[in-house]
Amino acid sequence: MKRRKFIQSGAVLAAAIPIGKLQAQVNEQLQSFSTHNKMYDVIVLGVGSMGSAACYYLAKRGYKVLGLEQFDIPHELGSHAGQSRIIRKAYFEHPDYVPLLERAYQNWKSLEEETGEKLYFKTGLLYFGKADHALIKGLRLSASQYSIRVDEMTAQQQIRQFPQFNIPSDYERLIEPDAGFVTPERSVLLYTQQALRSGAVIQTQEKTIEWRKTGSAILVKTTKGVYQCKKLIITAGPWAGKMVPDLARNLKVTRQVIAWVKPKTWTKFEWGNFPCWTIADPEKTGIFYGFPILPVGQFGGPIGLKLAHHFHGTASDPDTINRNLTKSDEDNLTYALNKFIPDGYESTHVMKTCMYTNTPDENFILDFIPGYEDVVVAAGFSGHGFKFASVVGEIMADLAMNGHTQQPIGFLNAKRFS
Ligand SMILES: Cc1cc2nc3c(=O)[nH]c(=O)nc-3n(C[C@H](O)[C@H](O)[C@H](O)COP(=O)(O)OP(=O)(O)OC[C@H]3O[C@@H](n4cnc5c(N)ncnc54)[C@H](O)[C@@H]3O)c2cc1C
Repeated sequence: MKRRKFIQSGAVLAAAIPIGKLQAQVNEQLQSFSTHNKMYDVIVLGVGSMGSAACYYLAKRGYKVLGLEQFDIPHELGSHAGQSRIIRKAYFEHPDYVPLLERAYQNWKSLEEETGEKLYFKTGLLYFGKADHALIKGLRLSASQYSIRVDEMTAQQQIRQFPQFNIPSDYERLIEPDAGFVTPERSVLLYTQQALRSGAVIQTQEKTIEWRKTGSAILVKTTKGVYQCKKLIITAGPWAGKMVPDLARNLKVTRQVIAWVKPKTWTKFEWGNFPCWTIADPEKTGIFYGFPILPVGQFGGPIGLKLAHHFHGTASDPDTINRNLTKSDEDNLTYALNKFIPDGYESTHVMKTCMYTNTPDENFILDFIPGYEDVVVAAGFSGHGFKFASVVGEIMADLAMNGHTQQPIGFLNAKRFS
């Protein structure tokens, strides 16, 4: 393989408003809106990853939209906190996601162009695992089916280019150069800001208690009032099962942990010097993955080398989830660093909990709610949904307002579990 430099320098990419300033701008805009008019074309229940994008597409198309969020925008109590989310195209989970990813990449770019802000950061993504592991088999399948560039590396090439990793000799080593990360809090804020600028009304600290159909309208009751709409979009993340009880048995919420650690040597793990990575260890279920150290001023905290374990954590209720962090949470993550990235761990800086909402087949649900032709749901993102927020928002707007979408979402229908 020809040796290439996949990692762009931090200086080239560092063009973005500090996250604290963006947050202050959005808060000011949120306070200047009121909800005197209580009849809407469409209500978006939950303004997180998918809901903020849905509000954006609906407001852009000129619809009268109300977004209802139980907490602040953004917040740390759902699924979108934590500074960074991996984005990649050689989708090991299923090749059918690839066309949606093509559209997601385009839509992230459009939002960047519209706002002048960077959201997608190309770092390259390393994949390590045995040839027969689902990660390696699946990414090769998607890459070959859709001609996505994934480069194979020999052990020597990997050690020369990415000496931070100590990988067993019987593992495959691949890199997807066009992969990297997107920034969840910044994206949610920017979608919200652009939706507000296009006329959306968005209410924070307002929890939806129930919704029901009354004649041709839908009634939505919250902690602060009652609204009516023609169409309802439910993007409630881990709370989706509470808002759509018929889907609840197929939406298992799990407790997940992310850590930011101090490595033994700082510079070689910084953005610009270190890529995103995934490792499938046959001795553990799931996949370990991580990110370079990011500058806090631009991306928000915490500071440190971030990593996580993609597997099903403990089943939890989103309202009572255990947010206390334990030694075993820490050991589970530092295990991967000690084993595969020896200079990557000196001490743990911060750990945080987050939630997955898992379907039985770990594929999303993007569909009308069975039995309703004016209520749509985006749920069950099973720990891999954020990168799709830019296309899911568009799909939700299509389904709710046009009754159909051109995006190929047949495999994500809700009926497959009935
Ligand atoms: C640790 C971790 C790591 C991850 N890593 C990746 C990754 O690398 N790449 C990737 O693509 N994905 C990743 N994901 C998955 C991704 O973050 C999620 O799939 C995505 O954020 C889900 O979006 P959502 O809109 O469904 O949920 P959320 O973003 O949580 O939004 C749901 C919103 O609805 C609101 N809400 C719910 N009920 C109500 C109510 N009754 N009234 C008002 N508001 C309500 C909530 O408060 C919340 O703001 C990760 C997830 C976790 C937890």
